[in-house]
Amino acid sequence: MLELVDVHKVYRVGTFGGGTVHAVRGVSFDVRPGEVVSLIGESGSGKSTIGRMVLRLANATSGSIRFDGTDVVSLRHRGLRDYYRHAQGVFQDPFSSYNPIFKVDRTFDTLRRSYFPQVAGREWDERVHDAVHSVGLEPAEVLGKFPHQLSGGQLQRLLIARALLLDLRLLVADEIISMLDASTRIDVLNLLGDLKDRGLGILFVTHDLSLGSYVSDKVVILHQGRVVERGATAAVFADP
Ligand code: ADP
Ligand code: ADP
Repeated sequence: MLELVDVHKVYRVGTFGGGTVHAVRGVSFDVRPGEVVSLIGESGSGKSTIGRMVLRLANATSGSIRFDGTDVVSLRHRGLRDYYRHAQGVFQDPFSSYNPIFKVDRTFDTLRRSYFPQVAGREWDERVHDAVHSVGLEPAEVLGKFPHQLSGGQLQRLLIARALLLDLRLLVADEIISMLDASTRIDVLNLLGDLKDRGLGILFVTHDLSLGSYVSDKVVILHQGRVVERGATAAVFADP
């Protein structure tokens, strides 16, 4: 479903063509439907850059990123919009993903305007309610609220609900539970398990080795932009 082959990212830094940072160096791996792949590495190892390139929030410098065989790097306009029906990201700080002056409803309205202008209001409301329910929230309790009136865990789950309204097949989850308290973490992890059971592929980005190995079918371990270990979680962590 998602396949990266020999992907590099070189950031140019400084104003006058000064320095470069070779953040990702020849990374290859794949994510299949119903599979959780953890991308694990210390801070600065290139994890977020990879997540952003997969979601086209950053451009790969070289290499190939394919989704069902389609080259993600060269998608434009409509093609990119269609890609985002299937591939979405949820990031560390859920508060930053919401405009603080808009009620949560606004996020869903925007989604409808961009993707489902033909869906009738009542049907759309039903879809929103179903999605919000499916992430373990009570629609009446969250939809009319402003982001600051909700907890980080509720917002994180709303972002996942938002993604579910699309025809989601790939979720990039970048450090999504590091800001949550312990019990909410478990809820969000269980939710990811449900998504996996529904056949979604999940790229789970984390600096936490034990967490990453706990949730995943496969791991990709990065060090300074390179893959240093890759394989089925059980095999990578088996006693030698
Ligand atoms: P991680 O997610 O593993 O912490 P990042 O992908 O954020 O790693 O960063 C990898 C490297 O790329 C780091 O050296 C970081 O400083 C650098 N980097 C990340 N984003 C940018 C950027 N927008 N411009 C320049 N350098 C960046
Ligand atoms: P295949 O698709 O036949 O498994 P690949 O060329 O995709 O072969 O992968 C070669 C090896 O790398 C295999 O052992 C495979 O399990 C491993 N591998 C591929 N993708 C990943 C991934 N996302 N995470 C961990 N290991 C992977």
